[in-house]
Amino acid sequence: MAVHAAAPSAEQLQEQTRAWLAQELPPGWMDAVDAGDDAKVAALRKDLDYADWCIRFGEAGYATPTWPAEYGAGLSLTPGEAKAVNDVLNHYRVPRPFNIIGIGMGGPTVLAWGTEEQKHRLLRPLATNQEIWCQLFSEPGAGSDVAGLATRAVRDGDEWVVNGQKVWTTLAHLAKWGMLVTRTNPDLPKHRGLSYFIIDMHAPGVTIRPLVQITGEAEFNEVFFDDARVPDSMRLGEVGDGWRVSVTTLMNERVSLSGAGSVGGDAVGGSPLQKLIDRHKPVADLLTRQRLAQAYIESRLIRISNQRAAARRKSGAEAGPEGSITKLQQAEFNQRLQKLAVDLEGANGVAWEGVGLHGGDDVGTFVPTDTDDHYAIARGFLRAQANSIEGGTSNIMRNILGERVLGLPKEPDTSRELPWSEVPRNG
Ligand SMILES: Cc1cc2nc3c(=O)[nH]c(=O)nc-3n(C[C@H](O)[C@H](O)[C@H](O)COP(=O)(O)OP(=O)(O)OC[C@H]3O[C@@H](n4cnc5c(N)ncnc54)[C@H](O)[C@@H]3O)c2cc1C
Repeated sequence: MAVHAAAPSAEQLQEQTRAWLAQELPPGWMDAVDAGDDAKVAALRKDLDYADWCIRFGEAGYATPTWPAEYGAGLSLTPGEAKAVNDVLNHYRVPRPFNIIGIGMGGPTVLAWGTEEQKHRLLRPLATNQEIWCQLFSEPGAGSDVAGLATRAVRDGDEWVVNGQKVWTTLAHLAKWGMLVTRTNPDLPKHRGLSYFIIDMHAPGVTIRPLVQITGEAEFNEVFFDDARVPDSMRLGEVGDGWRVSVTTLMNERVSLSGAGSVGGDAVGGSPLQKLIDRHKPVADLLTRQRLAQAYIESRLIRISNQRAAARRKSGAEAGPEGSITKLQQAEFNQRLQKLAVDLEGANGVAWEGVGLHGGDDVGTFVPTDTDDHYAIARGFLRAQANSIEGGTSNIMRNILGERVLGLPKEPDTSRELPWSEVPRNG
C-alpha cells in the first residue's frame, strides 16, 4: 500500500496511520491505550492472532516504512516521515514482527547490495515475519575480529559448498534465511578473501544447536555447515567483496541496537522509563531520585543523538560510524537503567525463578510485552548484561569511535596485510 503520492505532512501520515490502526487493530484497543487501561490492552494482545497481524502490518508497509513500496512491503518514506508514523505505532503499543535481525540488518543489506530479483524474492516475507532471518558472522575463533573468520565456501558450478561453524547465532532455530560470510580465497589478506551469501537455513548440511543464556532462554545457537550448498544466485555483492557487504550489515546492526529502532530504547520490562518513574513516585530517597533523573536525562540524550544520526541518513548518507556512539551509549545506559529498576523493586527484583532451560517463552522474548511486573524487570536486568557484547563489544565501539570519528591512529594489526592462510590462529 502506498500511503501517498505527493509528499504528505507528518500530521497527514499520522492521521492515515491512526485510521489504518482503527480499522485493523482489535476493537477497543486504541481506546484502552488512550484510557491507560493496561489490563484490557494485555487481554486484547493475548487474543490477537500474532502471525496474521504481522502479515497485515507488514503488507501495509508499517513494519518497514522507509523501504521502497515496490517490493511489497514498505511505504517509501523518508526517515523523518517514518518517525512520525512510528510515534503513532509506539503510542498505541502496536505489536511488531520479532524478525528484528531481518528488518534491522538483512533488509537494509539486500536493499544496498541485492539484485532486483533478490529484492523481489526476499523483502516482502521478511517484513511480514513469514521468513525469519539470522546473522551468521561470529565464529568460535572470530568475534571482534570477524574478518578473520574461517568458514569456507568453495565454488562448484552454480553453487558454493560451505564448511565451518558459526556461533551466537540469534534466532537461527526459527530462521529461514541466514546472512552468511565465508572465506572464498584464503590466500588473500583477511578482509579481501570473503564472500557474502544468503543461505537457506533448512538446506541439507546445516545443523543448528541451541545455547542457553543467563535468562534461561535460548535465543541464540551454534550453527554447523557440513557440505551445505548455497546457489551463486544468493550471493550479495561480488566474489571477494564480502567484507564491504558485511560492513553494511554491521553499521545497520549498530543503529538497530542504539535505541533508534521503532521500539523505544528506554524500556524496562517492555514499558517506557516514564512508567518506571510513575510506578515508584514519590521517591523519598535522594540518591534514588538522582538516579531516576539521570536515567531520564541520558535517555533524552540518546534520543537526540539518534535524531542527529537520522538527520544524516535523511540527507542521503548511509548508516555511518556515528551508530557506534549511540550503540555504546545505549548499552551502558540500559545496563544502568535495568539495575536501577531492580533496585527499585526491592526484594521482588530478585525473586525470580527463570523460564526453564528450553527457551520458555521463546519468540515472545522479542515482542515488547505490556507487563511491568517483577518477572519482566528481573529478566530485563539479566538480558541487559549482553548489551555490551552483542553487535560488537563496547571496547570495539570505542576503537571505532577513536579511529573513524576522532581520527586517531589505527589500532596496530600485524595480520592485516598477510595472506589469511599465513595468519597464526588457535584451533
Ligand atoms: C546476546 C548476543 C547475541 C548475539 N547474536 C549474534 C548473531 O546473531 N550473529 C553473530 O554473528 N554474532 C552474534 N553475537 C556475537 C557477538 O557479535 C560477539 O560476541 C562479539 O562480537 C564479541 O566477540 P567474541 O564473543 O568472540 O569476543 P572476543 O572478540 O573474543 O572479545 C573478548 C574480549 O576482548 C575484547 N577485545 C577483543 N578485541 C579487542 C580489541 N581489538 N580492542 C579492545 N578490546 C578487544 C572484547 O571487548 C571482549 O571484552 C551475539 C552475542 C550476544 C552476547
